Amino acid sequence: MSAAQPGTLFIVAAPSGAGKSTLVNALLEREPTISLSISHTTRPPRVGEEYGRHYYFVERAEFERQIAAGTFLEHAEVHGNFYGTSVATVQELLDQGRDVLLEIDWQGAAQIRRAKPTCVSVFILPPSRAELERRLRGRGSDTPEVIERRLHNSREEISHAHEFDYIVVNDGFDEALGDLQAIVRAVRHRGELQWKRHEALIAELLEEPGIGNR
Ligand code: GDP
Ligand code: ADP
Ligand code: 5GP
Repeated sequence: MSAAQPGTLFIVAAPSGAGKSTLVNALLEREPTISLSISHTTRPPRVGEEYGRHYYFVERAEFERQIAAGTFLEHAEVHGNFYGTSVATVQELLDQGRDVLLEIDWQGAAQIRRAKPTCVSVFILPPSRAELERRLRGRGSDTPEVIERRLHNSREEISHAHEFDYIVVNDGFDEALGDLQAIVRAVRHRGELQWKRHEALIAELLEEPGIGNR
């Protein structure tokens, strides 16, 4: 069923290790009406990652079949693996009036901007190169080779930060989380959305007083 107003599509991107997933998970606790889009990926699961909760983990041949079948709203090769966002899931949620958040790379963000020009995109920067490296190593989820590759690729990812509507520096976690939440809340209060959302209130406020009601 379609809602009176479609939801807003948010994109969050960052170089690997900047703290994107940690920030997004904390944001979703504060703003539980946002739905997180679960991506498909050919990357092997990390320890503790579950099918359908972190990603839909699929083989490369299956991913390629799904590209051909038109499953994806966007897809890209990142750090040597394929990642993609399913069009069906995202569209169904937006049509129900839900806000949807995509954690995707800059290439996917560029594709989404073309397909959904009203999307709102946020880029997360680490406070320094040394700290990015420290976080990637400290997370303990990737092999040294994978970490080197991600550090190497971070320059290209960061060089696209200016294409995003907002940039948040994740130095102090609480401040960065507050910034991210402020962006989401400001977008949700935009006049064009609020005017439709509060149609009944505005109609009541604009009602001409009837004779005898003054
Ligand atoms: P991490 O987020 O850096 O810890 O590592 P991941 O392996 O989870 O993600 C690797 C990269 O793929 C990141 O830049 C993600 O933003 C990106 N990514 C994840 N899902 C998608 C997706 O559905 N589409 C696209 N285009 N990129 C994705
Ligand atoms: P990404 O999703 O961008 O690859 P993660 O969310 O996995 O990054 O975060 C990478 C590591 O950095 C994690 O171990 C996380 O706990 C840590 N981290 C995230 N934000 C901060 C912060 N503001 N200060 C210190 N460590 C952080
Ligand atoms: P990781 O392998 O660490 O989970 O993710 C690495 C990168 O892949 C992240 O920076 C993430 O943004 C990106 N990524 C995850 N899912 C998608 C997706 O569906 N589409 C695109 N384009 N990138 C994704």
